[in-house]
Amino acid sequence: MSNEEKIILLQKFKTMKSQFFTAIKSILSAFRSVFFPENCIICSKELEESGTQICENCKENAFIRNVHKDEYFAPLLPFCEDVFVMFHYNYVKKGIISFKFKKQITQGKHLANLLAQGLKKQDWIKEIDYVIPIPLHPKAQRKRQFNQCEIIADILSKELGIKKQADNLF
Ligand SMILES: [Zn+2]
Repeated sequence: MSNEEKIILLQKFKTMKSQFFTAIKSILSAFRSVFFPENCIICSKELEESGTQICENCKENAFIRNVHKDEYFAPLLPFCEDVFVMFHYNYVKKGIISFKFKKQITQGKHLANLLAQGLKKQDWIKEIDYVIPIPLHPKAQRKRQFNQCEIIADILSKELGIKKQADNLF
């Protein structure tokens, strides 16, 4: 092996080594963000205290306690028997946008977990037969590479022990 070949080989090895460490670093950071998020999992603002998951402002203001359709949604959703809304949209907007359009799947999973915890406390949840994710247009799904409703439905199904039925809606 010539000296030139040795140098090329060494450079290749150095690149591989740095790629390997970059990959490890991003895996570790994804892992850490699941268990110790540095940003509020509702509004995405940086957390003052690590390990708290939800900022003080969201703890106080982001949650809606069981808004039913009579109060607000009846004119919007006449075909629904009832509607459960957990967050004020202004608070979760940023998180939902990161989830849907910036592929921040962990962010979406955090929100879905919070939703599941809220639903668990409802008496009527025992009467629910299925969790049905709303399908995404195939073209939109190809572009986005995932259906956010499927991810949420998987978590709700698992956390609430309710079967997921994904092929009822077209
Ligand atoms: Zn927040």
